[in-house]
Amino acid sequence: MPYAARTAKQETVPELFGSMVFNEREMKTRLSSDVFQAAHRAIHQGTPLTREQTDAIASAMKDWALEHGATHFTHWFQPMTSVTAEKHDGFIEPGPDGTVIMEFNGKELIKGEPDASSFPSGGLRATFEARGYTAWDPSSLAFIKDRTLCIPTAFCSYDGSALDKKTPLLRSMEALVKQAMRILKLFGNTTATCVRSNVGPEQEYFLVDREMYLKRKDLRFCGRTLFGARPPKGQELEDHYFGSIKPRVTAYMEDLNRELWKLGILAKTEHNEVAPSQHELAPIYTTTNIATDHNQLMMEIMKKVARRHGLVCLLHEKPFAGVNGSGKHNNWSIATDDGVNLLSPGETPFQNAQFLLFLVAVIEAVDTYQDLLRLSVATAGNDHRLGANEAPPAVVSIFLGDELTAILEALESDSAYNAAKRTQMKLGVDVLPRFTRDSTDRNRTSPFAFTGNKFEFHMLGSSNSIACANIMLNAAVAAVLEKYADVLEDTADFNDALHDLLRDAIVSHKRIIFNGNGYDSEWIKEATQIRGLHNLRTTPDCMPKLLEPLNADMLIHQGIFTRPEIESRCEIMLENYCKSVIIEANTMIDMVHQEILPAVLAYSGSLAQTAQAKTALDLGAACGLEKKLLRDLSSLAMQIDAAVDDLEDALMQVKAAQDVLEQSALIRDLLLPRMAMLRAPADKAETLVGSGFWPYPTYGDLLFGV
Ligand code: ADP
Ligand code: MG
Repeated sequence: MPYAARTAKQETVPELFGSMVFNEREMKTRLSSDVFQAAHRAIHQGTPLTREQTDAIASAMKDWALEHGATHFTHWFQPMTSVTAEKHDGFIEPGPDGTVIMEFNGKELIKGEPDASSFPSGGLRATFEARGYTAWDPSSLAFIKDRTLCIPTAFCSYDGSALDKKTPLLRSMEALVKQAMRILKLFGNTTATCVRSNVGPEQEYFLVDREMYLKRKDLRFCGRTLFGARPPKGQELEDHYFGSIKPRVTAYMEDLNRELWKLGILAKTEHNEVAPSQHELAPIYTTTNIATDHNQLMMEIMKKVARRHGLVCLLHEKPFAGVNGSGKHNNWSIATDDGVNLLSPGETPFQNAQFLLFLVAVIEAVDTYQDLLRLSVATAGNDHRLGANEAPPAVVSIFLGDELTAILEALESDSAYNAAKRTQMKLGVDVLPRFTRDSTDRNRTSPFAFTGNKFEFHMLGSSNSIACANIMLNAAVAAVLEKYADVLEDTADFNDALHDLLRDAIVSHKRIIFNGNGYDSEWIKEATQIRGLHNLRTTPDCMPKLLEPLNADMLIHQGIFTRPEIESRCEIMLENYCKSVIIEANTMIDMVHQEILPAVLAYSGSLAQTAQAKTALDLGAACGLEKKLLRDLSSLAMQIDAAVDDLEDALMQVKAAQDVLEQSALIRDLLLPRMAMLRAPADKAETLVGSGFWPYPTYGDLLFGV
């Protein structure tokens, strides 16, 4: 059916779902059975394809894309910026007699060579060697967006160094498979051929009116407000969370869902969040690299669809001071290809022993590599959230729930598992107790919470690519599983060895388990002073930890990064941090000079005129209010002026820094505090200046204006 005819009628959800994806259903009808089998293996097992097979797949892909209205194709990749990249090429080739033909072959499918000199490489690629190349990831399906066939790819430099987030993610998944399979063999599993990590990311966002948005340079340039007095009503009534959804937002969500379904994204759950005009969308979980691609696409489509509704979707972690910011919950589990979730307590004690091994491995991984998890979510934006009593603190800890904690305690002390008083808690496979599956409470104050059959990593910022967190998580767990496999493969009595191994791991790493309230300041004290956990509050605090031997050696050993890649990533992340805060500081200075001071002066001028007019009418004694306001505003204007001078001064110092490490520290210690000092008198002035004079929509307008 031609494209136009297909879109004319309103399709049902099953018809719509995946209609813009070159999925296996399409492949099956368009490829010979041999080539389809090969494609299937490439998607699910990573088996390489021959040149003839890729040519056949490319040709079928092109026919499908043309039938769906595509005119261009692109290798779609995830450089070290926060967004995805694409460079479109037309399918056209010159034909006979001034005509064109539509061409696309296997070579173009598997490899691209974008001139990529302007993407961040952290020194990995000198600009004179600008070429990078993109390589097809067959496991993530091609799709059509804006009449362009998008081919998910990894992005590398010419010597094969990763310049993107997908390459190390795929490497981390491989590392995890390798080690998890060794463990499964030890437990006698002969049916699983592969292990996958699965992720379901819950995405928070704000919607604001586009007209209002356009009036604010801070939102346009930085994605967050840099000024703004608190509105009379905020989120204190908690009447927004799960509240009924406004018609304009409902229309947006419906439109968004349809666009996402067309792209094969399993958009499932939507609701209002805690802050006014804040919402959440969660898809059904899927394989990590696909979930990552889908989350990137989802963020892009969220913004695009908002435009059609006269809205803007804000994905910044902290668009409004004093109002909850937005994060992303990374629900993570590992499962075998025959469908066994390794983080799910099983039916038999034997399965439970295997479950306990994986559970303890995650605990050890999170404790040993706390700083890697922390830095995997570090951005200037997320620094505003973590530890601000709305998101987990910057201290990483694990919530397990009481029952599992009691089981681990019993294991540790070789004592009876008390709650059930059933059995001696020795991990001989035949004596481990059965325990109920969904025994955990929800704990949203915990950075890393076990929720029955998966872990929820709560620290991600709303605009973070989920690749970074999952790279570190997969790598850390792979490293611990490797250590366990090395020990267990080499023992006479598996059960005894397993028992000793788990007991020792619990003793060494139980400090990371905390079932209490993560927002409590007492906890931060206990965590840092008694338990010795890291409290890495800002990006400049945590990013250098990437280079520490314990971390770097593990990542290199697991094959996730080379040493130059690690160094480049540290550099890029700090550079991103510096650039984004410097843009904010520049925007503040611009707003103060161009808009805020002129507004204060204009309003003061009108007060002075009123006072003058009153005096001329012999009402000089009645000018008390004008005088008082004038005095207050003059004083504020002077404070603003002095503070903006100080900020400009700080900016000069920041720009003169020798390297990015020094620069990021100056930003943390000098620039950000001065930005706060400028904001305070400006926000105070906003509350005194008449609304007709104030140049921007207020917090109240923005938060309640949709
Ligand atoms: P909430 O946390 O809002 O109560 P859920 O925890 O049920 O909601 O689900 C949130 C996300 O977790 C969804 O994306 C869901 O698909 C995902 N999820 C559920 N089970 C798993 C699992 N075994 N592995 C990874 N993600 C999962
Ligand atoms: Mg959840």
